[in-house]
Amino acid sequence: MTVNHGLYCSRRQALRLAITAMTSSALLSRSSFASQGLYGRPKPSDVILSARVPSAEGLFLAKLAGATRCDWTYVDGGTFFFDLRQSGIPGAGGAINMIPQDSPTVATYRTGRTNDRNGRLLEAPWQRGKGLYWGCVNNPDFLRLQLERARNALAAGAEWIQHDDAAGQIQAVSFGACWCNFCRRKASVRGFDLKRAMLQFQTESTIDYVKALRAGVNAAAGRVVVMSCNNFNMSLSPPTSLFDYGMCEIGSDEADLDRLQQKFRQFERDGWMQVVTLRSRDIRLNRATIAAVHALGGAMIFPYNVYMTDGPRYSADPELVVPLYRFVRLIGPLLDASRFTDLKAVDLFSTESLTSLDNAGVKTVVRRAGTRTLVHFIPGYPTSKSRPLTVRLATPARAVLQSAERTEPSVSQTGSFLVAPWDWSVVTLA
Ligand SMILES: [Zn+2]
Repeated sequence: MTVNHGLYCSRRQALRLAITAMTSSALLSRSSFASQGLYGRPKPSDVILSARVPSAEGLFLAKLAGATRCDWTYVDGGTFFFDLRQSGIPGAGGAINMIPQDSPTVATYRTGRTNDRNGRLLEAPWQRGKGLYWGCVNNPDFLRLQLERARNALAAGAEWIQHDDAAGQIQAVSFGACWCNFCRRKASVRGFDLKRAMLQFQTESTIDYVKALRAGVNAAAGRVVVMSCNNFNMSLSPPTSLFDYGMCEIGSDEADLDRLQQKFRQFERDGWMQVVTLRSRDIRLNRATIAAVHALGGAMIFPYNVYMTDGPRYSADPELVVPLYRFVRLIGPLLDASRFTDLKAVDLFSTESLTSLDNAGVKTVVRRAGTRTLVHFIPGYPTSKSRPLTVRLATPARAVLQSAERTEPSVSQTGSFLVAPWDWSVVTLA
């Protein structure tokens, strides 16, 4: 692949480089990730709130949403995690990134950093002039700072840790790469020619760093500490595959149900847990994506204070999304137990029913939970036809309908039932 050594690289280009660095890596196990079932790894039944920094508003929303966990908060001390627990939110996770302060009390960023070819501190093009320099994964001072931060987060009550931009040093190859003495020395020992193999070298260095960091965090905690990273494009290429789950920011084009379905089928085969956050102000799309992602075996972070590329941060009206998260909790055991199946809606419903669903912008996700077949009716874009639809099964079966706008399981019917296209309904067929 072509590597752009120029300095006009965007953050998106840098992220893309990071995921294409080792796409065919043998390091990515296709069997299953060892961390499945570990405490701290989210489940589809989880309601996740993320407050990047501690705030009373975040705490309030977590309670309102019935959050089961809070992920990705930068906390070095204070009582936020304890306050969350006191409010009934069972678990919370801290965060680190590639830009640790030189010390908890000094807001400079110069210790253990990446250097350009001339020995100057390397800057990401989109952070020029801000004095925010990324740490070098081959510099022991950087690893020491990261371990200190992780320990501080754990001491403040974090139970797991998110690593933001863990692929930073791979991304940095697109805007100059790190040429510091630690990198040069390690490359020479390992036999890398940095002029020709910088990308491969920095990918391997990042893998070494994540392994060392995780070993250090586990040793400090005296247990296995679950760690996540943000994985651009929901890619599992290293270093993502060294973490226990991924959190990916997706745009409206990536929230397409067919695309999500394809991705999550692969995640299930890989034993991978994927959390997403949607970057869209479209409340209908937010609602549809919450329903779709949880139905497919993932989880979507409560749309609160979401970073937008085109203006102020976005928070959805809680009244419009809380019912969906209540539904996540209501059908949680079904969500956690369900798996993909080869059954399709066309195998279950009459052609007439499928046409009426289609016309009302309702899509279906069919899953299996044990001996039960689950059919999720996901609202797409409600139209003027948004009135309850009668759906008929192609073959007689007993059906139990549950719906997001109601808090209790509802009718048990045979053959046909009602679906409201403006909410998220699930039918279990026995
Ligand atoms: Zn370096």
